[in-house]
Formats: sequence, structure tokens, C-alpha cells
Amino acid sequence: MRAFNFSPGPAMLPIEVLEQAQGELLDWHGSGMSVMEISHRSKAFEQVAAEAEADLRDLLAIPGNYKVLFLQGGASAQFSFVPMNLAAAGDTVDYVNTGHWSHKAIAEAARYARVHVAGDAGGNYTRVPSQSELRFSEDAAYVHYTPNETIGGVEFGYVPETGGVALVADMSSSILSRPIDVSKFGLIYAGAQKNIGPSGLVVIIVREDLIGHARPGTPLVFDYKEISDHQSMLNTPPTFAWYMAGLVFKWLKKAGGMRAVGELNRAKAAALYAAIDASHLYRSPVARDSRSWMNVTFTLGVPDLDAAFLAGAAQAGLHGLKGHRVLGGMRASIYNAMPLAGVEALIAFMSEFERRHA
Ligand SMILES: *Cc1c(COP(=O)(O)O)cnc(C)c1O
Repeated sequence: MRAFNFSPGPAMLPIEVLEQAQGELLDWHGSGMSVMEISHRSKAFEQVAAEAEADLRDLLAIPGNYKVLFLQGGASAQFSFVPMNLAAAGDTVDYVNTGHWSHKAIAEAARYARVHVAGDAGGNYTRVPSQSELRFSEDAAYVHYTPNETIGGVEFGYVPETGGVALVADMSSSILSRPIDVSKFGLIYAGAQKNIGPSGLVVIIVREDLIGHARPGTPLVFDYKEISDHQSMLNTPPTFAWYMAGLVFKWLKKAGGMRAVGELNRAKAAALYAAIDASHLYRSPVARDSRSWMNVTFTLGVPDLDAAFLAGAAQAGLHGLKGHRVLGGMRASIYNAMPLAGVEALIAFMSEFERRHA
């Protein structure tokens, strides 16, 4: 009995992908071994790696002048990789602050460069700033933002225009959720455990001209040029997570690619927000134009009911709905692998719960 898992990450994986991995676990492609047990330098694994990259390039229409890297260290390590590789000591770097993850990225960047906060939405992070509210510095080495704040559930509905300065995006919780124009970005990074695959892997898409500028003292395994020159295999990569990401990419292509997947995600989020807005018990704290498609936060007008809500939901097979400890309330993470049926089951439970507690 599979649960509907609304956890923010590690998150649900597509059942078809799990079943394929299960089927291949003991004897991968007739090798008599699992994919976890073969050398990352073998021809067979090179093929896994190359196919994963080709499928991701296909899905996001990644232009030829971008490299795709598959690394360890999660998204959090990129908070330091980015300033180490893209800014010299003393450079100014612009960061847009929209919540928990932006805040962490800023704290880390401040250890390497002068951070200018180019915009925030003030107060309690319930909206993203508009383009006209952003104030970039004259000479920033790059502009960093978080298109989707996983904890607050606020998402940019637009890509900031930076006037030619390289735009860096932490897309951990929104990559592959809808079509994007990669050419608008200098660098995209995403921890895998939300919308790509198992944890332990981070995917980086970086424009070639931004590679090769690591500051002196940068560890070789943190240097985009070294990593890129060695096809992300300077040392042993997280091979199983990479293989699983490749299966997820094939699953997304089979589902119709980014246009079809984006349509489904739009519909899933719209149905859930409509149910929240129509109810007298639930409330979305997020401004309508900033609502995330992937992480839907909501509160119960009667907080005393939180525990009963979570217990009832778990009984109905709906898990991982407790909001982040810093915010409280509820959060339904509805990444690509959450089927429409899961969102519908949640809406039905919410409505029944409200009726019973009216
Ligand atoms: C989950 C998340 C992170 C942290 O990812 P790790 O892989 O645990 O380091 C960073 N940024 C965003 C937007 C996230 O959702």
C-alpha cells in the first residue's frame, strides 16, 4: 500500500521508477551486479551518465554552451561553491532574500564576498519582490535568487532581469516543474531529493564562460573547471543517485516533457489553492501572485486542530503534511511524482475534516 507522501524532501519518487530500479537491482542489464556495484569508470556506467545528461539536456533544452555537472554535497555546498567560483575576494555579489534558503545562501556567501541584498519582500516572507522592487548593485559579480522557497511556499512567477549580470538560481525545489529558458541563467543548481531523485546528488547547469575563475585556494573538488574537465568524475560520484536521476528524466520524457508536466503541476496547485481559498477553516498565508506550485503552505484557523488534522491525514494515507518547525501550520509538497490522485485525496480529506469540525 503506497502512501501519498507530501514530504518536502527527500520526497516521493515515481512508482514506475522505483519498480524499474527494483527489477534491475540484482542484475543490472545482464551484468550479474547491481548498478551500485559497478565501477564509475566502466563503459557501462559512462553510458548511464551520458544518457542522464542527454535526457536532462533534452527536457530543459539546455543550450550547447552550458555544462551539466552531477555532484555531491547537496544544494547547501553550492552556497559556497558559487561564490568561490564566480566571485573574487572583495567582489560584491547580489542576493535576493525571499526566505529560509535565500537566507542560508546569503550567510554562506558573506564568508567569501560582499553581499548586497538586492531585494526582499519584507517581514514574514509571504510574497516575492517584483522586478521593479529589485535594486542591483553597479558591479555585482552575479545575482543569486531562490525561484521557489521550499519552506515558505513562495515562488517567483518571473525570471529577474539583471541587465546582463550572470543570474544564479537555487532551483532545488522547482527544477523540472515547468519549462524554463535556460539561456536566461548563468548557473542553475538543484539538490536532487525534491524533483530529481534520491538525496546525495546535486545537479548544476553552468554557462561555460563562468567556468575557470575559481579563487586561489579553492579545493579541486569544488572547482567547476576541474569537475567539468573530468566529466563530474574527479572522484567517485554518487552512482546510484545518478542512475536514479536518469530513470526520473526518462519518466518525465515519457510523461510528455516539460510542457505536459508543467500543465499537470499548474492544475494540481490550482486545485489545492482553490480548495483552501473556498474553505472557512484553511488559509494560505502567501500572496496570490507568489504562490508556489510545489510547496503549498496553509494554516488551520483553529491551531488546536493541527494535531487532529495530521493524525486524521495519516490515517487516510496522507503523510508528511506538517509544516516546517520555523513556520508551523501545514505544508503539502506536491512535486512531479505526486499524482493528481494524491492531491485529490488530500482535498477530499481536508473538506471532510472541515465538515466534521465546523
Ligand atoms: C532543500 C533545499 C536546499 C538544501 O538542500 P541540501 O541538498 O539538503 O543541501 C537548498 N535550497 C532549497 C531551495 C531547497 O529546497
